[in-house]
Amino acid sequence: MMRVKRFASFELTVTVTRVEVVLMQQLLSNSESLRSAMIKDQIMARGIQDKNVLESMQKIPRELFVSAECRAQAYQDKALPVGPGQTISQPFIVAYMSQMLMLSPGQRVLEIGTGTGYQTAILSRMGAQVFTIELDDQLLRAAQQRLNALGLADGVMFRSGDGTKLFNDLAPFDRIIVTAGSQELPEELVGQLMCGGLMLIPVGRGKTQMMLRIRLRDGVRVEQPLMACRFVPLV
Ligand code: SAH
Repeated sequence: MMRVKRFASFELTVTVTRVEVVLMQQLLSNSESLRSAMIKDQIMARGIQDKNVLESMQKIPRELFVSAECRAQAYQDKALPVGPGQTISQPFIVAYMSQMLMLSPGQRVLEIGTGTGYQTAILSRMGAQVFTIELDDQLLRAAQQRLNALGLADGVMFRSGDGTKLFNDLAPFDRIIVTAGSQELPEELVGQLMCGGLMLIPVGRGKTQMMLRIRLRDGVRVEQPLMACRFVPLV
């Protein structure tokens, strides 16, 4: 009798596990093909060519960075809500900023506005050493857990607090990326760039901002307006 029971429970476990494996494989291959379509139709179609950016976006499952209610929209061409007044950026914006950073593996990148950690994950997968900072402690912890689960947290330092002030002890940085809209260019932050460094920041006083690229070349500061964009405010 005992033997039969054990056998039955063993059979049941094997059957459930096989079903789960098949379902997971289906989910993963579906999300992989949704990512391929996103990259082709939304990102390459708009001129993004950096192989490191495209490969990272192909590998990172964006659906893990959004809430269960938004999962079906994870690969659509839009920003999605992730909490009160906060959003995960549109995939194209993430790709655009990642390309415009002109990143080399191993470079030190300060990211202000961790949010869901999606942009952080892309930068980490691209080989950057990322210092990311987020005002909302809960968002920061959730982002850290996601990156841990994806095996991308090793090259990332997470901090909670005001990103315009809190990383002075680790400056200077090769790159600075701000993923919230600032009313004006924070000079203190520009001062954290190393010589030859580059910073991307959306700046503007209205509902939209201008994405600015600031480069320090041979002691000369070059400011280049890139494109109009719309981010939640840097506070
Ligand atoms: N890049 C994120 C989206 C960021 S949304 C992603 O991929 O999901 C902007 C984030 O900036 C919000 O989470 C907001 O809480 C944060 N933020 C706003 N002002 C900040 C500040 N001064 N310092 C740090 N984080 C800030």
